[in-house]
Amino acid sequence: MRAVAGCRMNIAAILNGLLVSVVAALLWKYTQLSDHAASLEEELHLTQQSQELSQARIDYHAALLALQEHGTRMVCTGKMHTDRVCRFDYLCYCSEAEEFVFFHGNSSVMLPNIGQRRFQPALLDLSSVEDHNTQYFNFLELPAAALKYMPKPVFVPDVALILNRFNPDNLMHVFHDDLLPIFYTMRQYSDLDDEARLIFMEGWGEGPHFDLYRLLSSKQPLLKEQLRNFGKLMCFTKSYVGLSKMTTWYQYGFVQPQGPKANILISGNEIRQFASHLMEKLNITTKEQNEGTSPEEKDQYIVVFSRSQTRLILNEAELILALAQEFQMRVVTVSMEDQTYPSIVRVISGASMLVSMHGAQLVTSLFLPRGAAVVELFPYAVSPEQYTPYKTLATLPGMDLQYVAWRNTMEENSVAHPDRPWDQGGIAHLDKDEQERILASREVPRHLCCRNPEWLFRIYQDTRLDIPSLLDVLRESLKTRPNLKKTRPASTVHPGRVREPQCQTSVQATNEAKLTVSWQIPWNLKYLKVREVKYEVWIQEQGENTYMPYILPHQNYTFSENIKPFTTYLVWVRCIFNKNLLGPFTDVLMCRT
Ligand code: UDP
Repeated sequence: MRAVAGCRMNIAAILNGLLVSVVAALLWKYTQLSDHAASLEEELHLTQQSQELSQARIDYHAALLALQEHGTRMVCTGKMHTDRVCRFDYLCYCSEAEEFVFFHGNSSVMLPNIGQRRFQPALLDLSSVEDHNTQYFNFLELPAAALKYMPKPVFVPDVALILNRFNPDNLMHVFHDDLLPIFYTMRQYSDLDDEARLIFMEGWGEGPHFDLYRLLSSKQPLLKEQLRNFGKLMCFTKSYVGLSKMTTWYQYGFVQPQGPKANILISGNEIRQFASHLMEKLNITTKEQNEGTSPEEKDQYIVVFSRSQTRLILNEAELILALAQEFQMRVVTVSMEDQTYPSIVRVISGASMLVSMHGAQLVTSLFLPRGAAVVELFPYAVSPEQYTPYKTLATLPGMDLQYVAWRNTMEENSVAHPDRPWDQGGIAHLDKDEQERILASREVPRHLCCRNPEWLFRIYQDTRLDIPSLLDVLRESLKTRPNLKKTRPASTVHPGRVREPQCQTSVQATNEAKLTVSWQIPWNLKYLKVREVKYEVWIQEQGENTYMPYILPHQNYTFSENIKPFTTYLVWVRCIFNKNLLGPFTDVLMCRT
């Protein structure tokens, strides 16, 4: 078992602690807290924030009393550790032990109260990646009485969101695993507002994309290593732990080869709302928002997002020329090495087409305007069907992007790097046989994340694009010339239930009967302009297990074919807008001829 080093009690400390804490309690009122907060913020180089923390000064003594008396309270959502987010009052963190602490007091609540199942395997996932064993969250428990013998807690007055970033070095991971889940977890809990404090517990440094995380809240996010600066024991007055996974669309292949998530719950609308929020924070206005200038009149352009270090396009100049000629558009190049986020996002948010090698930079296609095209280029022996994070994003309903994949099929146009380190695709460390097998292989077989050497070898190849074959694919796949004319999103309003469904029957002869079904329009239809309204009727003879479906244009219909006398039919009706927006079925009608 792991000892709770700094927060462990021993007798000497208790005796010492008793005396010291009485004195300390007297001194530790408002002044100390704000002094401490100010010095902490200096350490963090946060001149602006130091003001906030001292302004948000809480009554230290009252907070301490509340913690000692009431203890920690936890109420969570979610049935399983994989879909759980917990809200805490007075969750504490012991920086020396690197453990969260739940203090049992008179008003403590722990919902779900699942005993040791909390460790099987964890209370919850601290990152948005499902059930990853390096991302589990749990806490230690102590009686609130133990506080008397522990270092004086420092209280964090901000409402905190505590989480793990999954891979803050990689832009796809930053957006997919962190920014979107944080953004929508904050929308789920209204006290996680613009003043919320993000706390990143994965233990990494800021990383190259920290500025993006800063856009989510007006307060500086805190890293695990910075929590030490708050003292040995810090207590979050109010906090949420964990992230909603509702927004993620991709699984990275930890238990099965990578691919779209089985049950995607996000649509383009939510992605675009998120993108607009970031753009607002970056002071970027889009053409769509600029009234009066219709995009097709304005200068349209193509963006080539280039990588300058690995997975290069070796004939980028040729590509740019070919694109400009083919589409009669300006072509601009961006790269993470040469541009800042604001300028990258500004350029992409006005582009008609984004062309790039497969790679994390393609997640920026979420800033493309509706109607634009995403063109993803794959190195030799890498199947576009097996690696689809950006395809899945671009084809989410309501993203309204066109997606095209091109792959290099000519080995001679590929430059591999067998002598690089393994994580950049080197294979020199492998057996000769294995190296030869990889070199001879024409396609990377399906594999799990993350260290498959054949995959790394192939994905880090540089590529000389075969321009004619790329243009062929573009001409074939781009149904319409990429254009931003259709900038208005398609309606996603679903029909309501049809009303007052009724049936009337009559028997014509011993072998002939009629069944008339009628209904009223759904209630919401009278407020909508819908291009095409149709109705679907299902008819099932009682006792049979098949049914006959009919699509009908009007609000009633008389069925006579296949309708038998003296028979009971079960009938359901629903409304359909524009061919694919289905409403709910009515309750079943029992119709006896
Ligand atoms: N990256 C970059 N330029 C390069 C190579 C990588 O900006 O030449 C960025 C890339 O966009 C990602 C990170 O560095 O954010 C890690 O790149 P890697 O190739 O490891 O991951 P991938 O792009 O395949 O997801």
